[in-house]
Amino acid sequence: MPTFHLLINGALVAGDQTMTVLNPATGEALSDCPRASAAQAQAAIGAAKQAFEGWRRTSHQERSAMLQAVADGMQAERDALATLLTQEQGKPLPEAGMEIDAAIGFLRYFAGIDLAPKLLEDTATRRVEAQRRPLGVVVAIVPWNFPVLLAWGKVGPALVAGNTVVLKPAPTTPLTTLKIGEICARALPPGVLNIITDANDLGPLLTTHPDVSKVSFTGSTETGRKVMASAAGSIKRVTLELGGNDAAIVLGDVDPEQAAASLFPLAFMNCGQVCLAIKRLYVHESIYDRVCAALGRLADAAVVGDGLTPGVQFGPVQNRQQFEKVKGLLEAAANAGTVVAGGQAIDGPGYFIRPTIVCDVTDGDRIVDEEQFGPVLPVIRFSDPEDALRRANASQHGLGGSIWSNNLPLATDLASRMEAGTVWVNKHLDFGPTLPFGGAKQSGLGVEFGEEGVTEFTQLHVVNIAR
Ligand code: NAD
Repeated sequence: MPTFHLLINGALVAGDQTMTVLNPATGEALSDCPRASAAQAQAAIGAAKQAFEGWRRTSHQERSAMLQAVADGMQAERDALATLLTQEQGKPLPEAGMEIDAAIGFLRYFAGIDLAPKLLEDTATRRVEAQRRPLGVVVAIVPWNFPVLLAWGKVGPALVAGNTVVLKPAPTTPLTTLKIGEICARALPPGVLNIITDANDLGPLLTTHPDVSKVSFTGSTETGRKVMASAAGSIKRVTLELGGNDAAIVLGDVDPEQAAASLFPLAFMNCGQVCLAIKRLYVHESIYDRVCAALGRLADAAVVGDGLTPGVQFGPVQNRQQFEKVKGLLEAAANAGTVVAGGQAIDGPGYFIRPTIVCDVTDGDRIVDEEQFGPVLPVIRFSDPEDALRRANASQHGLGGSIWSNNLPLATDLASRMEAGTVWVNKHLDFGPTLPFGGAKQSGLGVEFGEEGVTEFTQLHVVNIAR
């Protein structure tokens, strides 16, 4: 393993402390990793504050060119980055490669966005222009399921809008981000992007710091609540991308086997550790048994193993804490319903759980009501689509959702009444840099991606000139 460094004020530095990052496929140490102290977090914020005045004065063209240089650097090291990502995160190598590619694509898209001033009024009495000005120091906090993509979905728009950034990956997946930090050290001026790591202990310092203007956070709803409270002290801007419990509602007019084939990867991709994965599957009673059986066959056939092994479809759960949580939910689900496939953790090293299909469960069961964020899918029977919609909506979460039917007018009507930030018809999990994305209810606050997402890294500045 190479040596890893924090990035503070343009310098690649050792952590004041160190920690160990594990490979979830073996449960064994993968690498030593620097761990920032509180003083280093302060230094990172100080460097970002100092760099802000210079960075905000660069032209969009200059900022764009530097972000493209970071993207070029990531492209040049794409395969090595993907391998490292698999080793620390667990996902199969082709998916790790897709994540690196997606991060590069997101970065290139954001590099092209210039929020030009808008003329609001130009009359005999006044000329009014709306400008978008950068906020200052942005703290970006990222979880462990898509450590690279989610980081660049924040850093790209924050930097292109003229802010400077302190980025903090999750403690169990910091390594690929630190490697990309080496590219950034070459491509960006000192202090513009700082990368620090922690052992889940620096969040409060970062989110209460008076020199931080905005916190862009992706993670659990529980932690999001803390971030929002911390930000209140200095009225920081916050964007919160939080937990989800996406429902997919499958009407009785679809082909059960075809539907199962489409639904299965959308529930189990990255071992179900996707904010927008299908987490509750409502299936009409007329096709319920056939969908359950088809999903069970797909789960039984799934190849689970070390993500570096060719042909593996599903890697391990990312960390021990999540592994234990999913095992607990699995036990409760097995008591509540019928396990038609999977159902157990795999003995041996690593945090492996076979893709599990649980039928005959319903609302009120933990596996339906709670976000599992793991490879366990509850399948719930319904008879009336309106009732399914009501049950899908009776959740504190509202990230995504989908309706599956050959009756497009009916499906579109149900989709338009689903309480979620994004709702799909006959698909799920389709997102990209151009599409604004955010959660309804307790799944989040604000949006990321698209022009709207970049706008959230700016302050509206209205200039009103008398004629
Ligand atoms: P988490 O909330 O435990 O941790 C997320 C990040 O917050 C980590 O970097 C962690 O170190 C940091 N953190 C911990 N305590 C903090 C504090 N007090 N203040 C500030 N930061 C703190 O979440 P997780 O377990 O890493 O991620 C899984 C969750 O993330 C799931 O609920 C999932 O749905 C959600 N998620 C949401 C989206 C989305 O876009 N809506 C995307 C991916 C994941």
